Amino acid sequence: MPFKTMGLADPLVRGILATGYTAPTDIQSQAIPAILAGKDIIGCAQTGTGKTAAFVLPMLHRLETVPQVTKKTRTRILVVTPTRELAVQIEQAVRGYGRYMNLRTIAVYGGTKIETQIKFLRKGVDVVVATPGRLLDLIQRGSVNLSMVEVLVLDEADRMFDMGFINDVRKIVAELPAERQTLLFSATMPKEIKKLTESIQKSPVMIQIGRQQNPIETITQHIFPVSKNQKMDLLLHLIEREDMGSVLVFSRTKHGADKICRKLNQNYVEAVAIHSNRTQGQRLKALDGFKRGRYQVMVATDIAARGINIQGISHVVNFDVPAFAEDYIHRIGRTGRAAATGDAMTFVSEDEVNNLRKIERFIERTFEPRMAEGFAYTHRVTLETKPRTDGKKSKPGSSQRKRMKSQGTGQSHKPKAQDGPKDRSTESRKKSRQQSPAKKKSGFKRAGKKPSPKAAGPKTAKINCESVGK
Ligand code: AMP
Repeated sequence: MPFKTMGLADPLVRGILATGYTAPTDIQSQAIPAILAGKDIIGCAQTGTGKTAAFVLPMLHRLETVPQVTKKTRTRILVVTPTRELAVQIEQAVRGYGRYMNLRTIAVYGGTKIETQIKFLRKGVDVVVATPGRLLDLIQRGSVNLSMVEVLVLDEADRMFDMGFINDVRKIVAELPAERQTLLFSATMPKEIKKLTESIQKSPVMIQIGRQQNPIETITQHIFPVSKNQKMDLLLHLIEREDMGSVLVFSRTKHGADKICRKLNQNYVEAVAIHSNRTQGQRLKALDGFKRGRYQVMVATDIAARGINIQGISHVVNFDVPAFAEDYIHRIGRTGRAAATGDAMTFVSEDEVNNLRKIERFIERTFEPRMAEGFAYTHRVTLETKPRTDGKKSKPGSSQRKRMKSQGTGQSHKPKAQDGPKDRSTESRKKSRQQSPAKKKSGFKRAGKKPSPKAAGPKTAKINCESVGK
């Protein structure tokens, strides 16, 4: 069904066309009519399926067609989402689709001045897109009035649960009128989310797009067995050889992300790191630079990358195998968005094989390992599952407690130095880079215009990794 015949208000149809969409995605075709009919829904869809428009379009239709009951602008739509980046993106989407409407919208999230948000809220806004912590803060200060909210959207509910926000969400819901429409979106459906839906929704319609655990089909997944100390060289090799356009590299730790970024810059690859130690300004600047192509590579931790919505990421590289199978799906879902194709590459060292097997069980497929052509492997890594040495059985899946523990303490993964002895290929590659520093691949500029082996590398690295917030 084309957008025009879905019954959406005219300014919205124009807004969609101006955005460049020609036809609705699966989730949009199914969710929009149900939401327009006033139903509560549970949208079970993976990242990249177009779920933002699936809830934003019908909620804006309501604003356009149902007059508000008071003269003063009151918040009628509330979207709660786990991360600052998502809040910004959703609010941008609201403004984009609603460009022909007269709307007042705001994204509220932590890490920025609350006073500015309070001032804006005081004048009245139609749509609030918020992260749970900051919204609760505003509620407690009496700076936001949610008593007239007609539609509540809980986006990435499973992520909110993962990040420990579920009680905050319950507190927020308690502030809303009981008579409202509640739309909940989640890539996976853990039992805690099922419980939440039972307590806050009324006879929700379940919309499931694709099989729940399978990564989107447009992504080609590659598994590279490689020793820990050759991972950096392999990354550089692939960036050079595989015609990579825009690459998102995942590191399990902040320290690891910084280190990879530094090494990339030292090797004349434009890269930037994003993680929770960076300020909101730095993160936005890094994201913007990556979106615009200023950086070919963005290195991110799982939490920082949650919900990042950037079109055109051609490759996702898992520098380490995520300890939780769900994270694997979230990571690789950053490429192949909205039916575009993408490649996901996972580097697996010997001690990560058990995690790889967990992922295989989770997504119900067995990977064929791939060797990188032309790469000088120093030794062969076999992907044989190793028995655990701690006497415990390794279980498939994960638990919330394990996840929070490993993320909270940061002790589950302490990367060892990944810059071991340099093999011959690294040296010759560096030499060739130094001989032709301006060499471009996929239109991306290399860092380090005047490569002098001693000075240019580290200095460039410092500028790129640390200047994003300045
Ligand atoms: P989402 O799953 O909402 O994060 O959307 C993923 C990407 O798909 C975003 O970059 C959207 O701009 C894009 N998108 C959403 N709906 C459509 C559509 N109907 N046609 C083409 N692209 C879309």
